[in-house]
Amino acid sequence: MDATKHYKNQFDDYSISVSHNIVRNDTNTIHDAFKSLLTSEIKKCIQVLKKNERKWLNSDDYSVYTGQAGIAYTLYYYGKYYSDSMYTNMAIEILQRCATEFKSRHNITFLTGVVGPLALAAVILESQQKKKEAEQLILKLKSISTYVLDEHSNIPDELLYGRAGYLAGLLYVNANLSTAPIEADLIKKVVSSIINSGISYASSTHSQSPLMYSWHNKEYIGAAHGLAGILYLLLQARQYLTQVQIDNYIKPSLYYLQKLQFSSGNFPSSMGNSSDKLVQWCHGAPGMSALFCLAYKVFEDGTFLETAIQCGEVIWERGLLKKGYSICHGVAGNGYAFMHLFQQTKDIKYLYRACKFAEWCFHYGSHQTRLPDRPFSLFEGLAGVIYFLLDIQQPHLTKFPTYDI
Ligand SMILES: [Zn+2]
Repeated sequence: MDATKHYKNQFDDYSISVSHNIVRNDTNTIHDAFKSLLTSEIKKCIQVLKKNERKWLNSDDYSVYTGQAGIAYTLYYYGKYYSDSMYTNMAIEILQRCATEFKSRHNITFLTGVVGPLALAAVILESQQKKKEAEQLILKLKSISTYVLDEHSNIPDELLYGRAGYLAGLLYVNANLSTAPIEADLIKKVVSSIINSGISYASSTHSQSPLMYSWHNKEYIGAAHGLAGILYLLLQARQYLTQVQIDNYIKPSLYYLQKLQFSSGNFPSSMGNSSDKLVQWCHGAPGMSALFCLAYKVFEDGTFLETAIQCGEVIWERGLLKKGYSICHGVAGNGYAFMHLFQQTKDIKYLYRACKFAEWCFHYGSHQTRLPDRPFSLFEGLAGVIYFLLDIQQPHLTKFPTYDI
């Protein structure tokens, strides 16, 4: 165990007596007393975000991951949750500008490409009855598929920069627009190209997994760049997969991945790397708990749930990271892992644990050894923490932004 990466978790683990002002085990919800703490913390943080508006609004990063679009996503969620149209209006203005300003067609993913602002703006515009404007954005989103499906385009398959990240955009608009505007045929082509790419890489490298991928010459395992993130999106697209794809490729790849779990409950960040160091959404157990919860839901194999539960133990023990608070590689992202476990098991212990990680975030900035490069962003900074604090208030609906469709 590497104690240099995390603070010792001094919180009491769940019991009825320590949790009485935090969660309610009669209704499986967060206690009103803790909700009002969350709200006052959220309002404080949103003021900080507003006060620093010029810093992040003047940046030329238009992405969901580290740029303006991600911050706008948080502002929209905040405005909707507290019925404050100033924030929702500001959000849609920013998202539309991001969709226009993004010049490169080669940034194809929800998180780092134009797909994010296009998908988010389309969904919000439609909810405001601006159907024509939403349709234009969807056309643009679909047009990117010629590049995504081009065998010579040499694009990766992982979530942050690759095809799985494009798939996330397609699934998101279909799940959130009344018309489900993306044709099944297009989604099937995208999932097949991801699967075929994994088959061909796995066979060329004699991998024991039927699907394997590499990014920058490394076989990553985790959510952001690796096999887990790709499998998670494919599983969420399961209605577009054939039975053969599910039985011969997805399921055995899950069993392969499952065997890589360390005895601590954590996972390596890449193949051939035996160091049990990183416990964060992008690398390690936190991104895995979501995958194995979903795998359990789909295949009803109890060993998948056991794997996810082991992830939850190591995250509780080692998840208060010195690195910081972000949803990508910080405490808020680790808190989401407990929400996945809560939603799957309905065990109030996990909701309590998520609340304790939220409580840790109340002291935003005071327990971290380095400042994030993009301190206000959704995935590296304050906007992500605000999103998490908002999102857990409706525990049955909580979704890790852009990862849970
Ligand atoms: Zn990260």
